[in-house]
Amino acid sequence: MPADADVNKIFKSLSINLSSYKGKDLEVFSPIDGSNIASIKCDSEKSVDKKISNSVLAFNEWRDVPAPKRGELIRLFSNELRNNKEQLARLVTIECGKILEEGRGEVQEMIDICDFAVGLSRQLYGLTIASERPNHTMQETWYPLGVIGVISAFNFPVAVWAWNFALAIVCGNSVIWKPSEKTPLTAIACHEIFEKLCKKFPAAPKNLSSLIIGKHEVGEQLVNDRRIPLISATGSSRMGKIVGPKVAQRFGRSLLELGGNNAVIATDSANLDIALPSILFGAVGTAGQRCTTTRRVFVHKKIHDILFSKLKNAYESIGKNKVGNPLDKKTLVGPLIDSASFDSMQNALKRAREEGGKVFFGERMTTKNLANGYYVKPALVSMAKQTAIVKEETFAPILYVIPYSTLEQAMEWHNAVPQGLSSAIFTNDLREAEYFKKRSDCGIANVNIGTSGAEIGGAFGGEKETGGGRESGSDSWKYYMRRQTSTTYHGTKAPALAQGINFNL
Ligand code: NAD
Repeated sequence: MPADADVNKIFKSLSINLSSYKGKDLEVFSPIDGSNIASIKCDSEKSVDKKISNSVLAFNEWRDVPAPKRGELIRLFSNELRNNKEQLARLVTIECGKILEEGRGEVQEMIDICDFAVGLSRQLYGLTIASERPNHTMQETWYPLGVIGVISAFNFPVAVWAWNFALAIVCGNSVIWKPSEKTPLTAIACHEIFEKLCKKFPAAPKNLSSLIIGKHEVGEQLVNDRRIPLISATGSSRMGKIVGPKVAQRFGRSLLELGGNNAVIATDSANLDIALPSILFGAVGTAGQRCTTTRRVFVHKKIHDILFSKLKNAYESIGKNKVGNPLDKKTLVGPLIDSASFDSMQNALKRAREEGGKVFFGERMTTKNLANGYYVKPALVSMAKQTAIVKEETFAPILYVIPYSTLEQAMEWHNAVPQGLSSAIFTNDLREAEYFKKRSDCGIANVNIGTSGAEIGGAFGGEKETGGGRESGSDSWKYYMRRQTSTTYHGTKAPALAQGINFNL
């Protein structure tokens, strides 16, 4: 079935009328075959402004709804996602090109974070703190923050929004979402499913969730608006370098989830049966278009040749049989998002050659009936050292493999990139594993597990040019609330001053 007919069928089965979104501002293409799957209307400056005002009104009602009741709305939302998992997964695949299995994983991630948020809605704990003064009670309480602005990237068109959305809603906020201009359809579907649900949930105010469609200009409007106390932005470090300072300038809060350049260290004690599939999934999964994609491997010189030859064989077989239509069951690697992504991959490979690398594979493949999709054989590059191109994040399946002699040296190279998202070591030596965890400058440091594919229970995010934000599990919810310290005096005489200060008449 042509991709546009498939999209219409999915919206029909979700009982969502796409016609109110139709327009001439934004053409949406499927990376599967390059076909036009929708023409959409973009928000104007005026409509964005109105949506922000409405979102403030929604917040003022929702903040007073008890948190467990807010959790109940998210519980019902997760049921809707469960019921529509297959259609949503297919839409994710059609719109961003990841294989259907990963499309399902993306919807599952939304379900998981909703479940997490439901439990959280009864656990937004503060502290009781011992006061130094008699008859004083000191407490720390968490209150909702306000309107939360979420800007998301194309490669996780809905999961990252859900990480923010589910937590923000149980924390008592309203949310405005600007999805990537490359993937507005899955955003429309999820937003509409939530809207329909809100209509059946009396405590939910109108406009609790708002959707803004458009390119970076409408994103910038959110970024600059003082009515939005938190901007959670996921995307390239280039975007974060613009968004972060703008939000800071108005003393807003930002949660930045930006680019990664993730590395694996394979030591001479590594179990290759564990290392190989993990490196492979990390490097070629999602066609190298994950923020946590494995882009560099430092291999101990003793095992370098054997690991490299195993990787080469695996890459050869993937290139031969496993690249293709992401809706096909046997496919492991779908298309790149667009021609610009293909050009940047080819440019990176050219630079890698100029910098002394030996490049294997990486060329475009023409796939039957999908001539306008950008399908590539994942590239494997043997490098003698970490050159300039290796230090950049190229959002495509390129894996640089570099031999090392000592773990200290590998660690130094590992940390010598601007990004600091995910990292991994493969070793059977406990001392090496602990040394690695202590020294890795990333937000994620795994042992005998690849860099890609985090669970929602942990805090997700990274350091340096990855932006410093933490989303999803652990105590990331605190981003979406404001902390208040409150001291109450319950004595009968004039209260004592802190630090024993005398201020008597
Ligand atoms: P991108 O930076 O081009 O766009 C991301 C979003 O930011 C889009 O919605 C875009 O419209 C918006 N945007 C761009 N410029 C803006 C501006 N000046 N003001 C406001 N909004 C603006 O990124 P992309 O190509 O969609 O995604 C790929 C990048 O995202 C990669 O670098 C990847 O590593 C990163 N990413 C990071 C994470 C993470 O959690 N760390 C997750 C997914 C993707």
